[in-house]
Amino acid sequence: MTPAPVARPPVLCYHRVGGSLELGVTRVARSVFERQMRALARGGWVTLTLGEFARRLQSGESRVRGEQSFLLSFDDGYASLAEYAYPILAEVGFTAVTFLVTDFVGRDNTWDVRYTWRRLRHLGWDTIAHWQARGFEFASHSASHARLTWLSDGEATAELERSRETLVSRLGSSAGQAVAYPFGARDPRVEQSARAAGYELGFGGVRGNGTLLNLSRVPVYLWDAGDVPVGLRDDSLGALGRLVAHVANRCAVGTSVMLRLKRERRAGSGS
Ligand SMILES: [Zn+2]
Repeated sequence: MTPAPVARPPVLCYHRVGGSLELGVTRVARSVFERQMRALARGGWVTLTLGEFARRLQSGESRVRGEQSFLLSFDDGYASLAEYAYPILAEVGFTAVTFLVTDFVGRDNTWDVRYTWRRLRHLGWDTIAHWQARGFEFASHSASHARLTWLSDGEATAELERSRETLVSRLGSSAGQAVAYPFGARDPRVEQSARAAGYELGFGGVRGNGTLLNLSRVPVYLWDAGDVPVGLRDDSLGALGRLVAHVANRCAVGTSVMLRLKRERRAGSGS
């Protein structure tokens, strides 16, 4: 398996920031998140809107080396984002797109209770509208967080259409622009359903191929606690980290590779 190169512009994907602990690996401590955002802002990084990101992809600019812009994204839309993450972003002048599980807006999580001891609340529409008015963007993470590749064509299309219709009616047409496939699971059939439902951008796992409906993102997991998350690093540590993220994204299990990453981070640049 060869390490995935950094996509340009890179896309980071966080899940939970702060809040109660979980057994899984997708929760990043509030202090780590804050340190990373402040370090990136200090280092000259800027965040893109979905529209800027799409224009960058369509122009040759997307391959500029040393580019300091990225798309910051959150999956699942937990309520704690408005408490811990958005205020920090607003403070440092960053924006972000949050992919919402539209059937669960304002409700408790019932679709993934394996890793958390208690059910987690999702953002409500009022809070979403408040942050949208402050320049934050919202998009689809399907209607019910179903693994779309396991559904029939009709079911997958229904998931994607229902989610998009809800977003557009609540938040306006710009909210119907993009989808992040739950679990990063996509195939050509799912991409076709997304296109038919009206999405222009579709985000998969670490190894997207860069086409508009199979864009890659690098998840930030709990061990990715350096100032610059591996998804934005061009060095060998970044390549290793993306490989780990790819494996974890697929399997959602801990491996010895993670421990190796931790060791290398301690021994490495220390940044
Ligand atoms: Zn998700």
